Amino acid sequence: MQAVPPALERLITDLTRLPGIGSKTATRLALYLLRRPAAEALALSTSLAKLHQSIRLCSRCYAFSENDPCTICADARRNEQLVCVVEEPGDLLAIEKTGVFRGVYHILHGVLAPMEGIGPDELKTRELFQRVRTQQIEEILVATSSTVPGEATASYLIERLATMNVRVTRLACGIPMGMDIKYADEHTLARAIETRQLT
Ligand SMILES: [Zn+2]
Repeated sequence: MQAVPPALERLITDLTRLPGIGSKTATRLALYLLRRPAAEALALSTSLAKLHQSIRLCSRCYAFSENDPCTICADARRNEQLVCVVEEPGDLLAIEKTGVFRGVYHILHGVLAPMEGIGPDELKTRELFQRVRTQQIEEILVATSSTVPGEATASYLIERLATMNVRVTRLACGIPMGMDIKYADEHTLARAIETRQLT
């Protein structure tokens, strides 16, 4: 005899694949959805189904966006000569929240992790160097996290960018070692951007 109906079991398994969701939370969420009106579950499934249809990568900065270029790249008030390099879309959101950065972004979509087979070609590094070569970029602000892979990625980028005609800066101290920038508080992050330093 099966204690959990297969459809519920399947949903629980799917939810468990999400980051930070263990089987307990997954079960709680699945049962919650089951108790709510069917229309709510349907609305959620429609949102999920449309996710990949309507959201793409911006061809300039590689942010997730419904438009290409994204609203930041398309904004004439942003300084296109200042490019902030971040690991993930979540980092862009954290920096935007500070309201102090008026440049544009470049999202790497990950960090170097040689042990997991993630080298420069698995990230949007070639695209970054291409931007530096072909566009009028004055400054690259390397804003990777101060974790070990984040630092390794920063070192790689700084070494490569040193051979190109561009000023390279990093976030100033204030971000604790080992911290993912999306978890830094807004004021610390804002200060780290404002007092960024030349590499
Ligand atoms: Zn963009």
